[in-house]
Amino acid sequence: MTTASETPISVTRTERPSPRPEDGSLAFGKVFTDHMFLMDYEEGKGWHDPRVVPYEPLVMDPATSVLHYGQAIFDGLKAFRGKDGRIRLFRAQRHAERLNKSARALCIPEMDADLIRRSFEAIVAADADWVPRKEGTSLYIRPTVIARDVMLGVHPAHRYTYFVICSPVGAYYKEGVKPVRILATDTHVRAVQGGLGEAKTAANYAASLSAQQEAERAGYTQVLWLDGVERKYIDEVGTMNIMMQIGDEIITPPLAGTILDGVTRNSALQLLRDWGHTVSERRISIDEVMEAGRQGTLREMWGTGTAAVVSPVGELGYKGEKLVVGNGHTGLLTQKLYDSIVGIQYGTAPDAHGWTSVV
Ligand code: PMP
Repeated sequence: MTTASETPISVTRTERPSPRPEDGSLAFGKVFTDHMFLMDYEEGKGWHDPRVVPYEPLVMDPATSVLHYGQAIFDGLKAFRGKDGRIRLFRAQRHAERLNKSARALCIPEMDADLIRRSFEAIVAADADWVPRKEGTSLYIRPTVIARDVMLGVHPAHRYTYFVICSPVGAYYKEGVKPVRILATDTHVRAVQGGLGEAKTAANYAASLSAQQEAERAGYTQVLWLDGVERKYIDEVGTMNIMMQIGDEIITPPLAGTILDGVTRNSALQLLRDWGHTVSERRISIDEVMEAGRQGTLREMWGTGTAAVVSPVGELGYKGEKLVVGNGHTGLLTQKLYDSIVGIQYGTAPDAHGWTSVV
């Protein structure tokens, strides 16, 4: 019997490859590569038939359960073409394990984590030509699981599809790392303890849209989410985890069930500790942050996430007050974190923790 980690992955190549866009014209998530990865689940049969096939639409009955009850999970990671020409995945195993964690939260049957990691490798190998070459570009990989029962009724499905699609993406910062303006909201909440906040599931993103729209109308780029009970403690920012330096303390909210266990968050914390910084994973209230800002002890604030890696916060709005952070410039620590993680991703800095894997 083959174990899941040895299960062969079949590959059917497209007969009609698409023209690849110029590296300089790439945005985020607008074009997709020639192939996709597919695997099916049926009760009794388990996960089966892992395969790379030509990219094509999924045909679904309108009664398919995911379309009604949102039993869907996903993840997001990147492959980078290094200066040495080699393609590296960043922390593929950790992303695979997080997809399984999301699966557990949504009553979706888990997959073998090694097979998930191999699915990333297989799709990137099939579409290796699509990994762009220009500095700062990458191939974004989107693994997703959706419920495929064809019936109405709220219950965990008996059939699922796992698919992985890939999109070549442009440099997030075209002219160097640039600070963003964020708005703390106490009128909307993203997640509560006991809910889905720590899962990467479609519902969380649907729940974020109206607050995001309000923030944009007020001239901000992202929403700073406060906790769902007291609306007092900071959770995360937009689709990033949040960190800040107050005096000599680096603070980030703890993984207590309402925020995503960000892979970039984990990488940044590891590097900061390697460099000898004190890092506190603790609850921090918006009032404490605003007060530190007024007192001049709030030195730097930044978000972490796969898309931007590190995103400095230049301005924080809350209840009509505007706080300028670090004179609106990128702080030294923020820049150092960005440069260090990007260096590892593109293979120009030593990968001391073995975070990358060559495809
Ligand atoms: N929080 C949320 C809600 C997110 O969607 C993301 C992006 N995946 C993150 C945090 C950052 O996670 P990561 O560093 O793994 O991309």
